[in-house]
Amino acid sequence: MILDKFSLKGKTAIVTGSNTGLGQGICRAFAEAGANVVGVSRRHSTETGEMIGSAFHNVIADLSSVEVIPSVIDQTVAKFGRVDILVNNAGIIKRQDSLEFTEENWDSVLNVNLKTVFFLTQAVAKKFVEQKSGGKIINIASMLSYQGGIRVPSYTASKSAIRGITMTLANEWAKYGINVNGIAPGYMATNNTEQLRQDGERSADILSRIPAGRWGTPDDLEGAAVFLASAASDYVNGFTLAVDGGWLGR
Ligand code: NAD
Repeated sequence: MILDKFSLKGKTAIVTGSNTGLGQGICRAFAEAGANVVGVSRRHSTETGEMIGSAFHNVIADLSSVEVIPSVIDQTVAKFGRVDILVNNAGIIKRQDSLEFTEENWDSVLNVNLKTVFFLTQAVAKKFVEQKSGGKIINIASMLSYQGGIRVPSYTASKSAIRGITMTLANEWAKYGINVNGIAPGYMATNNTEQLRQDGERSADILSRIPAGRWGTPDDLEGAAVFLASAASDYVNGFTLAVDGGWLGR
């Protein structure tokens, strides 16, 4: 049955940034599809835990440093015995005119959005190879993996690079049965876009350009996330799928 291919029963997923927004929605969708979920967050993912129950385990870690990576993997294996899926969702954005943009705003964004993503992905892929199981990696990209954006140079650099390494890693790891794909959300109503949505002019500008006529929500990402985490996408590799209400096609 085709719907069986979308099942995540018996799988264990690590989802970073599990306390809120898109990451919380992905955790909930994976649990509904049958997976055990390890949510990694800086602060406790209490609400996410309440939504999911015993299939959820929270690992508290600050992903601005790569030092936490071995402990994330160890705690996942200790709790659920294996790893099958990784979603690199945690991300930050800093808005400042490029003429004034500070080194701190550059480094902090590149560390969380790119450096830790690469080394966490590498650690999880090593586990997949050791398990001889294959696995699924999903990188949360952005419209700014395709476009320039305004006042967000470090974010655009990180998300364009994410789309690039999604292809590199798919090329190298397909032979191990590992799929590396991306999801590029459009403009979604979360903390990440709060500042933008409060700027009346920018907000109206953005909304008028979205063919769907509305901001996206975490629910809008669930189908793509479960698809790319499941056997239904076994022959999809190295691609970043836009879930954007039509924005990129405009
Ligand atoms: P959000 O700000 O609500 O969530 C960001 C998540 O990242 C939070 O769970 C936060 O705790 C986590 N995080 C940030 N820094 C961390 C750190 N140092 N250690 C551990 N966790 C950390 O925003 P969101 O919209 O849910 O963003 C999720 C992802 O989606 C991000 O990668 C973001 O760039 C991307 N994205 C969002 C949009 C949008 O419109 N909201 C569009 C495109 C891409």
